[in-house]
Amino acid sequence: MIQKLSKFYIGGKWVTAHGQTVTEVVNPASLEVCATVANATRADVDAAFEAAKHAFDTWSQTSATQRKTFMLAAADAMERRKDDFVDAHVSTLGVPRTQAVEMQIDGPIEAMRYFAGLCDRVDEVEESEGMLITREPVGVCALINPWNYPLLQMIGKVGPALAAGCTMVEKPSEETPTVDFIMAEIFDEIGLPGGVFNLISGIGSEIGPLMSAHPLADMVSFTGSTRSGISVAEQAAPSVKRVCQELGGKSAFIIAEGANLEEAVEYGVNNVFLNAGQTCDALTRMLIPDSCYTQVVEIAQRVGLAHIAGDPESASTTVGPLVAMRQKELIDKYLAIGIEEGAQVLVGGVGYPQGVNTGAFVKPTIFANVTPDMRIAREEIFGPVLCIMKYESIEQAIEIANSSEFGLSSAVWAKDKVAATKIAKRMRAGQCFIQGGYFRVDAPFGGFKQSGNGREWGHAGMDEYLEIKAIIA
Ligand code: NAD
Repeated sequence: MIQKLSKFYIGGKWVTAHGQTVTEVVNPASLEVCATVANATRADVDAAFEAAKHAFDTWSQTSATQRKTFMLAAADAMERRKDDFVDAHVSTLGVPRTQAVEMQIDGPIEAMRYFAGLCDRVDEVEESEGMLITREPVGVCALINPWNYPLLQMIGKVGPALAAGCTMVEKPSEETPTVDFIMAEIFDEIGLPGGVFNLISGIGSEIGPLMSAHPLADMVSFTGSTRSGISVAEQAAPSVKRVCQELGGKSAFIIAEGANLEEAVEYGVNNVFLNAGQTCDALTRMLIPDSCYTQVVEIAQRVGLAHIAGDPESASTTVGPLVAMRQKELIDKYLAIGIEEGAQVLVGGVGYPQGVNTGAFVKPTIFANVTPDMRIAREEIFGPVLCIMKYESIEQAIEIANSSEFGLSSAVWAKDKVAATKIAKRMRAGQCFIQGGYFRVDAPFGGFKQSGNGREWGHAGMDEYLEIKAIIA
């Protein structure tokens, strides 16, 4: 059955879209249309921002306890709607059903509760010799999301915005909007005051600029490609809005001499194949000491071959389809480029995985003998493609790792935590996972260089939604 979403959630009500056109949402495994969503027009965008502006005066004056109560109620309702979230992630993004809860849903519920616990950060006052330094909500926020972790990315913005006392207009990606509509139903169900959260959908290149430049928006938080992120910053600049950009990456994973190779390589391969490689902080460049290269290649091949790409409904599938056919075409193009550049295909290659002959599937691929000048080593591919590179000294490894134009994440596995931390401190990236660390909602996340500006998650993620004021006697 095709789900038809023809209304937007504005001012606490489901209102019919002004425009006449819709976007078809395609299941990337079956290539069948699973939903249609209305495309917002300028009138819808204006109505959403007006509702958010109207609600701001009251919501920004609520107590931390009141906001926390709403957010905890939302988290409880998210628990109750888990099955709907699973269906939405499987049908629009192709996430393997058996992985959906752990990969895409438990984290956002935890995050909603985490940010609920930060509501009273707004009330913290620093006092210094008669001067008061206070925090206040930044205002009306424009929130623009990508498709790869739709619920997680959404809560990474909506959570701190609600906790800070901001109101918001949120736009999902064209590929995965149904998740956001479930969240709007949840906010409606828990009685969140009208206008605090407003949802519109539509074509990013059309309404994204209207949102980024909107005169009633005080800040824009954007997650997506570097190309669109630059456009958002340009649109927001004339009205001097705060802009938080979470963009692309090409993160390096240094495995140092003395590391437990079995554990490190397995961690690295699984990291890149997670969510079919559509993870902005995926550790797509694995840097290996010359001395253990042969052993690493053997482990990587074994771990890679154990992955099964195919039907997201099958319990044995570990890698689902890419989000859309255009992504399959793009990734297959990169695989062909890698082969042409002389990289060695350890696992995978161009074309459909075994037993699959339709849908947005690619073969999870590991390239060995990759050199830093190759395009596959420099450009963000955004698919299940790992590049293994050799290094001769740790200095050279750090230099290669930091030579990227991106700086979103990184990882180090050394003989122990102390040795890994020493290297981690030299990685030019917003995060560094050592000895097999994983994503945490309380860890600040964001980019150096062209991976973005600002932070999400943790206290730093909350602070993006707060203004600082000095009251001076
Ligand atoms: P995208 O830039 O195409 O789209 C992201 C969002 O921006 C969508 O909602 C889209 O509709 C909207 N959009 C498109 N053009 C716009 C414009 N001109 N102005 C405003 N909004 C516009 O990116 P994508 O393909 O959806 O996502 C993949 C990219 O996102 C990858 O590069 C990935 O690394 C990055 N990403 C980064 C993070 C992070 O936290 N740093 C997280 C997830 C994804």
